[in-house]
Amino acid sequence: MELSLPWPDPTSSAAKNAIEEVLRLLDAATASIRSGPVAAPVDAAGLKEWLNALSFEEPSPPEQAITQVLEQFVRGSVHTIHTRYFGLFNPAPLLWGEVADMISARLNAQLAIWSHAPAAVEMEQHALRFMAERLEVPHASAFFTSGGEEANRCGVQAALVRSFPDYPDSGLRSLPGQPVLYVSAQSHLAWIKIASGLGLGRSAVRLVPCNEDLQIDVAVLARLIAEDRLKGLLPFFVAATAGTTSAGVIDPLSELADVASQERLHLHVDAAWAGAVALSDQWRTVLCGIDRADSITVDAHKWLSQPMGAGMFFCRHTRALERAFGVSTSYMPPSQPGAMDYYRMTPTWSRRWIGLRLFLSLAIGGRRAFEAQINRDIFLGEQLRQLLVQNGWKIVNRTPLPVICFTDGLVERDSSWHSRVAAHVIASGDAWISTVQLEGMPALRACITNWQTSPEDLETLIGALKRARVCSDAT
Ligand SMILES: *Cc1c(COP(=O)(O)O)cnc(C)c1O
Repeated sequence: MELSLPWPDPTSSAAKNAIEEVLRLLDAATASIRSGPVAAPVDAAGLKEWLNALSFEEPSPPEQAITQVLEQFVRGSVHTIHTRYFGLFNPAPLLWGEVADMISARLNAQLAIWSHAPAAVEMEQHALRFMAERLEVPHASAFFTSGGEEANRCGVQAALVRSFPDYPDSGLRSLPGQPVLYVSAQSHLAWIKIASGLGLGRSAVRLVPCNEDLQIDVAVLARLIAEDRLKGLLPFFVAATAGTTSAGVIDPLSELADVASQERLHLHVDAAWAGAVALSDQWRTVLCGIDRADSITVDAHKWLSQPMGAGMFFCRHTRALERAFGVSTSYMPPSQPGAMDYYRMTPTWSRRWIGLRLFLSLAIGGRRAFEAQINRDIFLGEQLRQLLVQNGWKIVNRTPLPVICFTDGLVERDSSWHSRVAAHVIASGDAWISTVQLEGMPALRACITNWQTSPEDLETLIGALKRARVCSDAT
């Protein structure tokens, strides 16, 4: 039996040299992403060929393996860390989030149960309490999730438990009818995935039409609830979107809270990306009414610029979470009184130290660093609106947040024209933008959430759009 160790010890000098080399390669990759195209077409055949040749039977030198990984990634990806990625809330992560990931990987803290990593759990809870206070739900229970979808799913589960006390033990079959939930037609369609996954069925999701500002139409919502009750269905949940994904629109939170309390529905606020404005004294008022939510979703991996896989869920009904997710087993250590055992009140078991990313970023940068970045992005968003209008584009969404939906200011264009313009911009490598349908109306969409995006980047986008428009008219 060969008893030598197959892996390097992470504290050895060989490991230190390797880590230094990784940092050098990573910096070189970052530099080449920053100076290269935002998105380049992938060579799928070349990628497959490389992987097919890699059998994993033989070892390879670490520099070689890591260089190849970086080269393959840089060559064919949409570069979300690029300052001209005007895309879908995937900002360049902050250094301290990256460092936090390194720390949590090295120490491999297990946060399932408080007694295994009390300091890690308490640090997370400290950051979450800070966020909860900024969101004006100071006493909410909170935990990190893999993302917004998981946090929204927790909202639905907590609501099911609250409305139907038999649900956690006996399941949906024990209910006297079909539960239904309400979200706007502009909401994030993770709701469909959630309804399907929880066994409610996709048809349990009512997509309530929007008014001309793309907000949920509260009068129609009230009518749908009444109609559903007459049909014997069981309304139990309504979600407000605070910052829609396509247009950055905030649903009328106070009006929805009124409907929810009259109808005895659980009110969830999906503030996955825009909840970050709670850190800006100047802009947090756009979330006015959020304090009346039963539960809230905010993603730290969106506008709070943390590495991917960092959602947050806040809920005022701790007992409902315990009923939804609680189990006890003989092999877990006993709970300490008053301690937060995540495995008993969250959907996951083994749990990574996700929240260290936000904790370290807040501890080192302070709230004001986030505030400065959010205010800056909002300012640049306004600047982009003005540049677009000066260049003959028409803005079609109304929001103070830095999501800008726009179309041709002179001629009515169909969705294929908008797709051609976006494709031209992307093919130029100068920027990445997308298209959306806003209640049937096609538009182009650009969003600013990268803290390093500059006014020059906006000028470059305007130039790329100008050329794309000429080409799209010619085809
Ligand atoms: C991004 C987003 C989600 C989904 O979040 P993930 O972190 O991607 O799971 C949900 N709702 C809104 C409003 C979003 O913008």
